[in-house]
Amino acid sequence: MEARDVFALGLGLSAPWKLAGQRLDIEKRPNELHLEVVADRAALFPCPECGRACKAHDFASFTWQHLNFFQHHCFITARVPRVACPDHGVKRAPVPWARPGSRFTLLFEQAALILVREMPVLAASRFIGITDKRLWRIVEHYVGRAVAALDLGSVRAVGLDETASKRGHNYVTVFIDMDRRERPVIFVTPGKGKACVAAFRAFMLSHRGEPTRVAEVVCDMSPAFLAALAQGFPNAAVTVDWFHVVQLFTTAVDQVRKAEARGRKLPKATRWAVLKAGEGNLTDDQRIALAELETGGFATATAYRAKEMLRWIRKADGGQAARWRITRFINHIGLGLDPAPLLDPVRRALRTFATHVERIVQRWASSHSNARLEALNGLFQVARSRARGYRNTATFVTIIYLLGAPLPDILIST
Ligand SMILES: [Zn+2]
Repeated sequence: MEARDVFALGLGLSAPWKLAGQRLDIEKRPNELHLEVVADRAALFPCPECGRACKAHDFASFTWQHLNFFQHHCFITARVPRVACPDHGVKRAPVPWARPGSRFTLLFEQAALILVREMPVLAASRFIGITDKRLWRIVEHYVGRAVAALDLGSVRAVGLDETASKRGHNYVTVFIDMDRRERPVIFVTPGKGKACVAAFRAFMLSHRGEPTRVAEVVCDMSPAFLAALAQGFPNAAVTVDWFHVVQLFTTAVDQVRKAEARGRKLPKATRWAVLKAGEGNLTDDQRIALAELETGGFATATAYRAKEMLRWIRKADGGQAARWRITRFINHIGLGLDPAPLLDPVRRALRTFATHVERIVQRWASSHSNARLEALNGLFQVARSRARGYRNTATFVTIIYLLGAPLPDILIST
């Protein structure tokens, strides 16, 4: 095989295109390898609109950046014809190695996308030697195209959650198909609350989805979400995810601990002892801290007990048993609660919990794993690190799609 054939193979060249020459520019650092591609002037070329084979009208020269050839940057130059189509007039013919309008070859773009799935965008752009702005444009093009082609016709159960690209900044709301194990993300939109639910409904309708056929929605306890869901997805049973119930009380425990620590010295190791899930995996220090909280009559101990009682509720083996345990929980914790303002966070959590009992109990009737929304947090974390250094929400949205959505043909070269 000649060098010429190796390059032609790497580009996926086929008639009428062939490699005419190559030149290594050693004046440049890194060196640049330039490949020249030509087509037979007498050949016919497809019209970009209808594909009809047409004669060339005139030619112009274009250059594309290609994959590095070992340590050399590699460029392809070709004279590309405009065709004269009887129906569409004079148009630039497409070339098989690049998409219209791009100054990169398809192989280059695919390599870039693979890198962006594996490392932060900024690092990937340095690695392949283009500006991050140009890299973003490639990623946005392919992700946008794949998202536009999503088919939501079979979606019957939806989960949603919100996250921020940084603490308290750039909120996005993410919707997942609860029946998809791998890459469940089907919609990502900036913001949180009511407008996001309406945006998802519109997206579904424009992607062959049918909101009235959604039978279940799993979400947190945000009143804005709940009101919008009742309106936009009238046939869906709403399940409050257990993960969010635990989060509600964990936050309350933490608030009580912080407030109490301002007035009274807490046993050391308290913080993680009360945040950990279950007593089984505590260190000795943490075990001692819990015992001291208990005997010392700390408010933090009371808050902790409330959170731990959730474990007992969750073990109920049916909706009815759960309802019974929940009633016990609300009475036991609520009535026994010290009226001291220190425990206000627990009182608030209990009120929220009591408001949503029906939706919480719904999880015992649901066939969908409650671990799904919790698992999303791992995805969010990776997306945040990939998009680090970028302030705008659009980049965060794009990365979440790239990592979490079912975009099977994002790498296909058309
Ligand atoms: Zn045409």
